[in-house]
Amino acid sequence: MKACTILVLLTVVMASSLACSHETSAHASATTNSEPAVPASAKSEMTDATEASASAAPAPAAADSAPLPHIDAKRAFEYTREVTAFGERYMGNENHKKLERYILDHLKGDQVEDDAFTADTVEGKFPVRNIIDKFPGTKDGIIVIMGHYDTNYWLRGTGYVGANDGGSSTAILLEFANQLRGARTGDSASPKKRDGYSVWLVWTDGEEAVKTWTETDSLYGTRHLAEKWEKDGTLKKIKALMVMDMIGDADLDIIRNTNGTSWLLDLIYTAAERMGYQSHFYALQGPIEDDHLPFYNRGVPSADVIDLDYGYHNVFHHTPQDTMDKLSPKSLEISGDTILETVHLLDQR
Ligand code: ZN
Repeated sequence: MKACTILVLLTVVMASSLACSHETSAHASATTNSEPAVPASAKSEMTDATEASASAAPAPAAADSAPLPHIDAKRAFEYTREVTAFGERYMGNENHKKLERYILDHLKGDQVEDDAFTADTVEGKFPVRNIIDKFPGTKDGIIVIMGHYDTNYWLRGTGYVGANDGGSSTAILLEFANQLRGARTGDSASPKKRDGYSVWLVWTDGEEAVKTWTETDSLYGTRHLAEKWEKDGTLKKIKALMVMDMIGDADLDIIRNTNGTSWLLDLIYTAAERMGYQSHFYALQGPIEDDHLPFYNRGVPSADVIDLDYGYHNVFHHTPQDTMDKLSPKSLEISGDTILETVHLLDQR
């Protein structure tokens, strides 16, 4: 993922919005305005951003008796390894097809839908396939969790395998499916439902640019899905939408992506606090473009959970160095448990 791919250039900018605009750059900019606009070290920015977000964070929600979520991080890590082992997985290539089958094999018995179409790009036409796994709930409304499973066409032939960028997001959703499947109540006589909102998991395709990140060369799958969901009325039912991206980095620091809905970003932080994971969240902040944008721009409460500081100065991002040895099961656990706890908090709203 990337969203904008990114070099995470953390520049302290006064500015409002640097968006990620080119192929390798998701720009994250710190919003503190007391410093000159120079490339700053991540560390100094982290401190500032942490202070900023701490003051904005709401008080932790009242404790409830529900047990805190706990994903099987070893299993999620193994999924990441298996996904990565397919090699480069750009839209429509043979490895991508194998991965589609791999994902679907893990969703047998679930309520699965496809959003498949052909994308017309600057590099030609590509088949795109978003995979949606629906877990109906007892409450009226939908929580959507997304993660992309494609890798970059423009990195083909370089040895790029996208362990973190594409691999970790595919895997954490597979583990979420396991958790949601296990939490359903009901019996064979009645539809099994989760106690709360419906949760839809979406493995998104074509998140990456085929050539250079622009508004039209990126987010192929989610731009199509957002349009479809706008037409069929689904968008109005979505209570919250969260994107998981690059969350396997062993040195996990989730950026507060200011291209997002404040109350949802705060709720994620609250969930992290409840798990004791808050030190991995929001030390950095800035606007990043990712799969949530087509929905966020249509008014859906949205947040992008992303670590765009992958290696010092994001050096591993979109390089053949994005490999399994940079990841850890603990990071999948931290990000995964936090998002499942966020779902729990959303269910109570
Ligand atoms: Zn990427």
